[in-house]
Amino acid sequence: MTYRAPINDILLALNHGAGLLDAVKAGHYGDFDNDIAPAVLEEAGRFASDVLAPLNRIGDEHGIKLEGSSVITPPGWPDAYRRWTEAGWNAVSGSEAFGGQGLPLAINAACTEIWSASNIAFGLCPLLTLSAIEALDAHGSEELKKIYLGKLISGEWPGTMQLTEPQAGSDVGALRTRAERAPDGTYRIKGAKIFITYGDHDMSDNIVHFVLARLPDAPPGTKGISLFLIPKFLVNADGSLGARNDIHVSGVEHKLGMHAAPTCTMSIGDKGGAIGYLIGEENRGMHCMFTMMNQARLAVGLEGVGIADRAYQQALAFAQERRQGRAVGKSGSEADPIIVHPDVKRMLMQMRALTAAARTICYATAVALDVSVRAKDANTRAAAAARGALLTPIAKAFSTDIGNEVTSLGIQIHGGMGFIEETGAAQHYRDARITPIYEGTNGIQSIDLVTRKLAANGGESVWALLDELNGIVSRVEASNDPAFGTTGPKLRDALGSLERASRWLLERVTSAPNEALAGATPYLRLFGSALGGCMLANEALAARNLAEADPQRYVTLARFFAENVSVHAPSLEKTVTDSAEAVNGADAVLLA
Ligand SMILES: Cc1cc2nc3c(=O)[nH]c(=O)nc-3n(C[C@H](O)[C@H](O)[C@H](O)COP(=O)(O)OP(=O)(O)OC[C@H]3O[C@@H](n4cnc5c(N)ncnc54)[C@H](O)[C@@H]3O)c2cc1C
Repeated sequence: MTYRAPINDILLALNHGAGLLDAVKAGHYGDFDNDIAPAVLEEAGRFASDVLAPLNRIGDEHGIKLEGSSVITPPGWPDAYRRWTEAGWNAVSGSEAFGGQGLPLAINAACTEIWSASNIAFGLCPLLTLSAIEALDAHGSEELKKIYLGKLISGEWPGTMQLTEPQAGSDVGALRTRAERAPDGTYRIKGAKIFITYGDHDMSDNIVHFVLARLPDAPPGTKGISLFLIPKFLVNADGSLGARNDIHVSGVEHKLGMHAAPTCTMSIGDKGGAIGYLIGEENRGMHCMFTMMNQARLAVGLEGVGIADRAYQQALAFAQERRQGRAVGKSGSEADPIIVHPDVKRMLMQMRALTAAARTICYATAVALDVSVRAKDANTRAAAAARGALLTPIAKAFSTDIGNEVTSLGIQIHGGMGFIEETGAAQHYRDARITPIYEGTNGIQSIDLVTRKLAANGGESVWALLDELNGIVSRVEASNDPAFGTTGPKLRDALGSLERASRWLLERVTSAPNEALAGATPYLRLFGSALGGCMLANEALAARNLAEADPQRYVTLARFFAENVSVHAPSLEKTVTDSAEAVNGADAVLLA
């Protein structure tokens, strides 16, 4: 079945759950006219359903092929990419000075969900190009921007991000690719990279590689890394393509999922050195990477949301068609659709509620990142930057974790047919599996949350957020709406657990770091469960005041999340605080 973008849910989440409308009203978005959002998203949904979704299965079945030193994408891919760039979808949030549409990241976030849902392997190419754009825009010289930025923004030349080497995965500081200064001010790069997404393909004339490398006199570790732009084809003074640069794909990986997105081993400088141009300053490559890291991690979180929604839509349709057993209390011989069974309803609600919560967390992150650069007032910008930094690891890890859970439930609802490739449910599950791994594993996100984001300013960002979330719970309680059930008390408990776990971790993050680190992953889950519950409750409250929304639907969804997901917060709190010693004593079990 095809994919339909859930525009109403997206708009409610964006405007009310994530706070876009309030931020626009407060003037933080300048002259951006939010009334255009529905039309942009409807159009994105149409492109996704008509062009990208039909290629999803074809891409999975055909995969990519390495012919000589060129990667061939599946049938229809190059044409879809051409239509994508011509329609301007690559340029949604790009700078207007370089041909972009200058729309907020929040609008692009909703689009990213839509691309990922319709065809996650296709969407991965522009997702990485966006990171390249951010790095070049923020740190590149005017000369480099003039040549490359417009092409990257339009998508005519997509980008890659090349960090990983065999010995340098999570530990980026261990990378060995070398850069030598050339007399003309350029650099000669030599080395090898692995796992490079869209490292080569046939969808464009040129590819702009962004490569991390180390100068001969660089200090060790992350302080000695520099970022270089290495075009596949050099660019002549008149803008035409020149000689082939010395960077080539030397192999492609055979993967569990994402078959249509090439994952390449890259040989750099085998014929004397690839010509590279420095981005930013020497040895400040990690600084450049940090600029785009929030946005890239958020985008991967949105992949989790998109693939979860795709799996949900498919499971819902299947549950309405597949007939097995009879509804409780019903007589007769005719079987009912499985959606009548409470356990199937529970699985579908779990899928929908997890997806909706992750969606709003991701959109709220995008709004914070937007306000952190768009607001006029410096204090507003600083507060939004802190909020965006805090939410980013949660957006990435919670959303991709639930992407895996929801796609797994999607298979479960299909029964045996879910395990059979023809239904497509298995593809979503396979495709989703990489998302908790790349762009910083979810373990690394949890560590970032505890050691950097929570610990910043003695937990100030967390206390500020908790205040707002407690305000939402008070409004749920004040609504006296029986349809909310025990939403209020469940969320109150969840926030209490989050606050206590935060204080417990803060006390240990420097004095007993191993204890804090042992609890990092359950803490991130606790955070997502409490935050997501409050955000869905907030959306439900907003829906009650909107003429066009169906409030009951959103109240029931918020209640389900609070009573089935947020309710686990107290046990997650206990996991954070009580199991650290056991984790740190684990060697007795693991190494016995
Ligand atoms: C399909 C695919 C596409 C990719 N695309 C790109 C790309 O375009 N560009 C690019 O540069 N890279 C890319 N990667 C690489 C990806 O970013 C890395 O795989 C990822 O960062 C993890 O590194 P690793 O595989 O070396 O795992 P490792 O770093 O070896 O991690 C193994 C396990 O140990 C844990 N771990 C590691 N260090 C710590 C620590 N300090 N504390 C706690 N736990 C730790 C991890 O969380 C993980 O569970 C891609 C990978 C794949 C599979």
